[in-house]
Amino acid sequence: MKTYEAVIIGSGFGGSISACRLAKKWPGEVLVLERGKRYPMGSFPRSPHDMAHNFWNLPEESCSRPDWVPSHEVHGLFDIRNYDHMDALVAAGVGGGSLIYANVFMEPPDHVFEQGWPENCSRESLRPYYDVVKSVLGSRPIPQNDDPRRRIPRTELFQEVAKEMGRDSELVDINVFFGNDFDHPTDIGVQEENRFGAVQTSCVYCAECDVGCNTHSKNTLDLNYLYVAEHRYRAEVLPEHLALRIVPVDSSAKDDSTENGVHGYRVYYVDLDAGTEGSVLAKRVIVSAGTLGTNELLLRCRDVDKTLPSISANLGKRFSGNGDFLSFAVEGDRPSSPNYGPVITQRTDYNLFEDFKRDEAFILEDAGYPAFAGWYLSGARPAYSSLAAIWNIVKSTLALWFQRKSTGRIGYAFSEWLAGDVSTGTCVFLCMGLDRGNGTLELDKEGRIRIDWPYKDSLSLYEAILRAGKEFSKRINAKHFFALPNWWFPLRKNVTVHAVGGCILSDSPDDGVTSADPSSFGQVYGYTGLFVADGAIVPTAVGANPTATISALCERVAEGITEMYPNKDL
Ligand SMILES: Cc1cc2nc3c(=O)[nH]c(=O)nc-3n(C[C@H](O)[C@H](O)[C@H](O)COP(=O)(O)OP(=O)(O)OC[C@H]3O[C@@H](n4cnc5c(N)ncnc54)[C@H](O)[C@@H]3O)c2cc1C
Ligand code: SF4
Repeated sequence: MKTYEAVIIGSGFGGSISACRLAKKWPGEVLVLERGKRYPMGSFPRSPHDMAHNFWNLPEESCSRPDWVPSHEVHGLFDIRNYDHMDALVAAGVGGGSLIYANVFMEPPDHVFEQGWPENCSRESLRPYYDVVKSVLGSRPIPQNDDPRRRIPRTELFQEVAKEMGRDSELVDINVFFGNDFDHPTDIGVQEENRFGAVQTSCVYCAECDVGCNTHSKNTLDLNYLYVAEHRYRAEVLPEHLALRIVPVDSSAKDDSTENGVHGYRVYYVDLDAGTEGSVLAKRVIVSAGTLGTNELLLRCRDVDKTLPSISANLGKRFSGNGDFLSFAVEGDRPSSPNYGPVITQRTDYNLFEDFKRDEAFILEDAGYPAFAGWYLSGARPAYSSLAAIWNIVKSTLALWFQRKSTGRIGYAFSEWLAGDVSTGTCVFLCMGLDRGNGTLELDKEGRIRIDWPYKDSLSLYEAILRAGKEFSKRINAKHFFALPNWWFPLRKNVTVHAVGGCILSDSPDDGVTSADPSSFGQVYGYTGLFVADGAIVPTAVGANPTATISALCERVAEGITEMYPNKDL
C-alpha cells in the first residue's frame, strides 16, 4: 500500500492551504479526504426542492441534530448543528466554508492578540502570513467607479448611519473576483482566467454568496489554493470521503495505539458514494475538518476508539462562537435593498478597532440575501401586518435551515412581505465580537460532539450589540427591531457561523493542545507528525471575521512542516 507524505482531512481554509503547500514540497504524494461534493460552476442548487435537500445528514450523526431530522442520508452543502445555547452552521464540500461564506477578509486589531494568545504567536510574527493569504485570496473592497451598477444602496445606508452616530465605518476587503486588474475592474459578468488558471466571472452583484456562487465569482478555495494543489502539484482530492479514525502505526505499518506517530499513521475513511470503507497510510496527518469536525474526530480517537489516547486533556476547551449575533430592522424609511451586491461590503466599528473595550468590542456588518428568496412565491396572500410577515419568513426560514424541512410556507411568507414592500427598507445586522471564548466541545453519550456554551458570561457583549441594533433602527425609523428568534427568552440561543477553538495553540502542553513553537507549529502535543490546521487552533475570539486569521495560522503550520516560506504565487 502506498504511503503518502501527507493525508489531509478536510478541504476548507486549513485543508486547502495545507494541500497546496505540502503538495508543492511533495508533488503527487499528498491526499485530501473531503466528506462533501465538488461544486463546479453553475451547480449550486436553487429550486425549492433542491434547496430543501441541500443539507448534510448522516443517520449515524443524527444525535447531534434534532430528533425530527429525517433518517435518510443526504450529502448537501449546509451542515446545521443544534445545541443547548449555541447552534452552528458549517459547510460540507470541496472548498469547505469558502463555498458559503460571505467573503470577508479582515485582520483583527493588535490588541486582540494581547490576551489568551501564545507568546510564540504574536501579532507581529503573523503579519507576513496575513499578507500572503490576502494576495492569494484576492481580497479587496468593492470597486468604486462610474458604472451605476456598482452602486450598492445597502453599503451607502450603513455608512451614512455610521456617520450620523459618529462611528467609524469602512469598506471591508472581500475575496470576490472583479477581474485581475485591481484598478480597472473587468466588466460585470465577463469571464476570464484568474492568475492561477481557473475560470471566474466578474461578480454579477446577485447577493447569493451564502448559498454558493453559481458564476464562480467568489474566490473560493477550489479556485486558488486547492486548484493549484491539484493542477500544478498533483495532489489527489477525494470528495465524499469521510475520515473516521486516525491510528498510529508501528515500524511494520501495523496499527498500534501505543505509538506516537514516528512511523506514521493509518487513516480510516468511508467512501460515501460507494458505501465502502477503506484506509490509507501517511507519514503525517493534517486534521483540517473545521472546528467542530476536528474536535469531534480527535475526541472520538482519544475517548471512543482510543487510538490517540495521549491527546491533551485540554482538547475541546476554549471554544468560541466569535461573538456572532444576528438581528433585523424592518420597514425603515431609507432604502437598503438587501438583495443587491456581495452579501457583506462594510463594517462599522463598536469598540473593537478604536476605543477598545474588551467586554463590548464588536463590529456591525451589512448582510444581504438573495433576491430569489423574495420571489420564492407559491401564491399571493394579503399582508395584514408586516411584522407578522417578517415573523413568518423567519419562522419558515428557521424551519428550513435548522429543522431541515421545508414547511412549504416560506413562499407565502415572502409574498406577504413583498406585498407590504418592506424588503427594501429592511436591514440585516450581522455582528461579531469578542465573546469570552470559554465554551467546551465534548462528546455526548452517543459519542458525538456537542457545544457547552455559558452564554451568560458573554452577556455584556450581546447586550451592547442589541443596543447598537436598536439605535440603528431608530435612525432609520424602522417599525420593528428584533434579534434572531432563537435568542428570545427562554431559548437564549445563538447561532455561530464562526466557530473557533478546542485545539488551541499554546507555548506549553499545560495550556493547549497544539504547539505554537515555530518548528512544530500546529503539531498535537504527544504525537509526531499529527497536526491541526483549521479554526480549531485559534486560541480566542478574534472579533473580526476569522478566516484571515485561520488562514495566516495555517500558512504557518505548513511552513513548519515543509520548511518552505510561503509565497504569493503559490
Ligand atoms: C454563512 C457563512 C458565512 C461566513 N462568512 C464569513 C466571512 O465573510 N468571513 C470569514 O472570515 N468567515 C466567514 N465564515 C466562516 C468561515 O467559513 C469559517 O471560519 C471557515 O470556513 C473555517 O475554515 P476551516 O478550515 O476551519 O474549516 P472549514 O472551512 O469548515 O472546512 C472543513 C472541511 O472539512 C470537511 N470535513 C469535516 N469533517 C470531515 C471528515 N471527518 N472527513 C473529511 N472531511 C471532513 C468539511 O466538509 C469541510 O469542507 C462564514 C461561515 C458561514 C457558514
Ligand atoms: S454577489 Fe453574486 S456573483 Fe458576486 S460573489 Fe456573491 S454570489 Fe457571486
